[in-house]
Amino acid sequence: MAQRAAGSIAIPAIIEGRRPRVLIIGGGFAGIHAALALAKLPVDITLIDRRNHFTFQPLLYQVALAVLSPANIAQPIRSIVRKKQNVEVLMDEAIRFDLDARRAYLKSGAMIDYDYLMLSAGATHSYFGHDEWAQYAPGLKTIEDALEIRRRVLLAFELAERQMLETGSHPPLNFVVIGGGPTGVELAGAISDIAKIYMRHDFRHINPAMARVLLLEGGPRILAAYPEELSRKAVQQLARLGVEVHTGVQVTDVKPGYVIAGERRLDSVVTLWAAGVQASPLGKLLGLETDRRGRVPISKTLNPPGHSEIFVCGDLASIEQGGHEVPGVAQPAMQMGKHVARMIAQDLAGKTRTTFHYFDKGDMATIGRMAAVANIKWPFRARWSGYPAWVAWLTIHIYFLIGFRNRLAVLFEWVWSYFTFTYGARLITGSHDLPGWNDLTSRKPEPEAARLETAAPGARAAS
Ligand SMILES: Cc1cc2nc3c(=O)[nH]c(=O)nc-3n(C[C@H](O)[C@H](O)[C@H](O)COP(=O)(O)OP(=O)(O)OC[C@H]3O[C@@H](n4cnc5c(N)ncnc54)[C@H](O)[C@@H]3O)c2cc1C
Repeated sequence: MAQRAAGSIAIPAIIEGRRPRVLIIGGGFAGIHAALALAKLPVDITLIDRRNHFTFQPLLYQVALAVLSPANIAQPIRSIVRKKQNVEVLMDEAIRFDLDARRAYLKSGAMIDYDYLMLSAGATHSYFGHDEWAQYAPGLKTIEDALEIRRRVLLAFELAERQMLETGSHPPLNFVVIGGGPTGVELAGAISDIAKIYMRHDFRHINPAMARVLLLEGGPRILAAYPEELSRKAVQQLARLGVEVHTGVQVTDVKPGYVIAGERRLDSVVTLWAAGVQASPLGKLLGLETDRRGRVPISKTLNPPGHSEIFVCGDLASIEQGGHEVPGVAQPAMQMGKHVARMIAQDLAGKTRTTFHYFDKGDMATIGRMAAVANIKWPFRARWSGYPAWVAWLTIHIYFLIGFRNRLAVLFEWVWSYFTFTYGARLITGSHDLPGWNDLTSRKPEPEAARLETAAPGARAAS
C-alpha cells in the first residue's frame, strides 16, 4: 500500500484495496469534465443525469431564436463517454441521500452506493417567489425551454399576419425580455435580428421590422458583472439593433399578454425571463447548509463541511476566491470537474489534496448578428466590443462545443445564415396558442404616452 502523506484523505475503499466507486450526479459542464478526467484513473464511475444529453447552454439562445437546431448544441452523454470503459451512464434523477451509509436514492426506486459523491446538478430559474409567472414568461435553461421560446416568438408573427389579413390591424408586436444579464442581452439582440433582418421579406401583410424589443433591468446597468465601459458599449450596440434598454425598472407582475413594470402596464406578445437563477434543489436534499440561492458552501478542496468524500461543483457550489464569489459560468464548472479528478488521483497516491484555484479567462456576450462585448483576461488583457469581440466569441464557442460534428454543423449554420440572411430552424412545433393573444387582439393599441419611460437618465438606449 502507498505511504500516505500527512493530511491525505483516508477513503475506506482505498484502505481496503478495492477500486473506489465514484458517483456523479449531473452530466453538465462539471460532471462531463470530471467523468472524462476520472476515466483515466483506476476507479468505477457512475454518471447520472435526468436527461440523456449534455446541453451546451451558452448557445441555447440560438436554438430559441431558430439559428441552430437542438442537435447542434446537445450531445448524448452516453456517446460522449462511449470509449471510457469504466464509466456507466444512467438516465435517472437523484432524489435523496443517506450520507452516513454513502448511498444515493434515485427516482426510479434504485439506490447506488458510493465511495465518492460528486454533485453537479447546476441551477434553474428563480422567479423570486412568483412561480406562477413561469407559464407567461419562460426562462432559458434547457432544450425544451429553447423550443418553447422559439414556438412563442415565431407564433407571434404568424398570428399577427393572420390577424392583419382578417381585420386590417394587429396588436403591437412587443417582445419583453426581463433581466439584463448576458442571457437577456443575447435574447433581446437575437429577437431583434430575426424580426428586423431575417424575416423582413417573409410576410405579405405585416412588417416584422416594426416589432419592439424591450429589455428591462432592475439594476442601474445591464451586464452588471462586466466593466462599466462594456455595459455602456452593449447599450449602444443594442440601440443600433433597435432594442430599447430600460434600467432601474422593477417588474412587479407578469400576466398573459402584459407585464407590470413600476406603475405601468406594458403589453407584450412574448415575455421572456432572464432575471433570476436558483441552484438545483439537490443541495438542500443533501441536508447540508445552503446559502439563500440554494448553493452549497464548499471548502478550497470543493467539499461541504465535514465531508471529504463529497464534492460539490459548478453552479451548485458557493466558493470565494480573492474576496469574490467564483461566478456561476461554464469555465469554473469545467475546472472544478477536472480538479475533482486530480484530487481523487492524489487520494489514490496517498498525497495531500491540492486546493482549487479558478483560472478566470474572461467573459463575453453577443449582441445580435455581428457584435459582442468581451472582457478578455487570458492570454492577454483586453476589453473589446463590436465586430472583433464577436469574432472572438464565435471562435471560442466553436472551440468549446463538444463533438467534432457539432463544431462543423454550427460553423456551417453560422456561415450560411451570415451570407444568406436565412435561419434554418424556423419551425413552430407544439401548440398554436399564445398566452394573452386573445386579450391583446381585443384591446385598443397601447397609446404612445403609456410607453415605458422609466429608464435612468442616460441609460435609455432607444432613440
Ligand atoms: C441560457 C444560458 C446561457 C449561458 N451562457 C453562458 C456563457 O456564454 N458562458 C458561460 O461561461 N456560461 C454560460 N452559462 C452558464 C453555464 O452554462 C453554467 O454555469 C454551467 O452550465 C454550469 O455547469 P454545471 O455543470 O454546474 O451545471 P449544468 O451544465 O447546468 O448541468 C447540470 C446537469 O445536472 C442535471 N441534473 C439536475 N438535477 C439533477 C438530478 N436531481 N438528478 C440527475 N441529474 C440532474 C441536469 O439535467 C444537467 O444536465 C449560460 C447558462 C444559460 C442557462
